[in-house]
Parts: sequence; C-alpha cells; structure tokens
Amino acid sequence: MIIAANLKTNFTRKETEKYVNELESYIQTKNITQEVLVFPAMSSLDSHDGKVIIGSQNAYATQNGAFTGEIGTEQLEEFKIKTILIGHSERRHILGETQEELVKKFNFYKELGFKIVYCVGEPLEVRESGNEKMMEYISTQYEGIDTNYENLIIAYEPVWAIGTGLTPTSEDIESIHTDLKNKSKAPLLYGGSVKVTNAKEVLSLNNVNGILVGSAALYVEHFCTMCNYAQEIENKNKENI
Ligand code: PEP
Repeated sequence: MIIAANLKTNFTRKETEKYVNELESYIQTKNITQEVLVFPAMSSLDSHDGKVIIGSQNAYATQNGAFTGEIGTEQLEEFKIKTILIGHSERRHILGETQEELVKKFNFYKELGFKIVYCVGEPLEVRESGNEKMMEYISTQYEGIDTNYENLIIAYEPVWAIGTGLTPTSEDIESIHTDLKNKSKAPLLYGGSVKVTNAKEVLSLNNVNGILVGSAALYVEHFCTMCNYAQEIENKNKENI
C-alpha cells in the first residue's frame, strides 16, 4: 500500500526534518514495508536517505528560468527529488491551475520518469448533481493524462471532504474507486479527512490501495499509526492468500 502525507503550508525546515526523522525511525523499527511518501512545504524540501520518499507538492514544467515563485527540476535535483504531486484540489481551485496546465506539467515530469501522484475529485455541487454527472466531471480530470504511465499513482480526493472532517461513506468510496479502476490500473489512493479513527476502515476497502492524508498527518504519531495499519492489513491479506 501507499501512505502519503501532504504537509501543505505547514512546518519550518527544522520541524520537517524532525518529522521525517521520527517517521523514518518508526518505519525502520516496525519493519514497515509499505511505500511511505511525504510532501513537505517547498522551503522544507531536503535530501533524505531512508525508506521515506520525499516528494514535491508542486513544481513548474521547466528546468529553470523566469517563473517567479516557482521551482523547476534544477531545484528538485539538488535534493534528489523524483516524486511530485499534480492536480491537488487546492492547486486546481484556489490557485486556478487548469486541466491544460496540469497535463503540460504531467507530461513534462512523466518524460523525466518522476513518480506522479495525480489527484482527481469533485466539488460538492457536482457531487450533489448525481452520480452520472459526478463521474463525467471526474472523467474530465483524466483527459490528456497517460493513465498507463508506469510511475503513476492516482488519488481520489472529493474536494468537499478535504480538511472538512466529512467523508463519503465506505460504500461510496468503494463504488467510486471501482469505477475509477476501469479508467486506470494505477494504484488508487483515497484522500479527504482520513484520520487515525477511520484510516483502518478506508484502507480495508476494495480497490483502495492507500491513503493521502493532510491535516491528520501533521501529527507524526498519527501518521505513523496509519502506516502501521496499512502494514497490518497487508500482512493479513498475505496470510489469507
Ligand atoms: C489533502 O489535502 O490531500 C487532504 C487529504 O487533506 P485532509 O486530510 O486534511 O482532508
């Protein structure tokens, strides 16, 4: 399974280093073999030797150049970062990134072989317009994306569930994930108000291959517990084969 923490605009460089080191030490001690990703704030990006994979929450489709406020591969290479989050709802809806821009970014980082966590998900008004309209909306977020890309991970994150404490029912998550698996066989994460109290249930659902966690991941001990849940579930699944 894949367990990812999106730290958004939180933590200083020092705090992030402490966070990653605590997480790394937990993973090593507990023999966690699941894939653990952390997306720190830009100013906290750093090299890390260990099992935790550090990714960038964003980057421009460039090596370098005149793109004020952005970073490119020159800055990512400094820290050997080869993982990127693309299409997060906060970038789509707050920062206004269009599908066209996201596709450009996706193709640029795909060409470089980056591991791409690509986010899709519907706002509340789309959700309320019914299942068919919702799936049509989500389908538009797959347009232009190479769904067969070998280093692709998709995260389904309903916009109305992000940071709100609201989550779809387990039946809804399972049914949407099952539909989305027909669009791409890439690992499919669920994100949106996952916490220690619901992580185990979400991770146990069919067609859920992991979680992308925001607010709750800010507590390193909570995020560690979620990594452990994923390991326990995988161990159980292996026993049952
Ligand atoms: C996110 O921002 O990707 C996210 C899932 O946030 P939260 O867990 O806070 O809903």
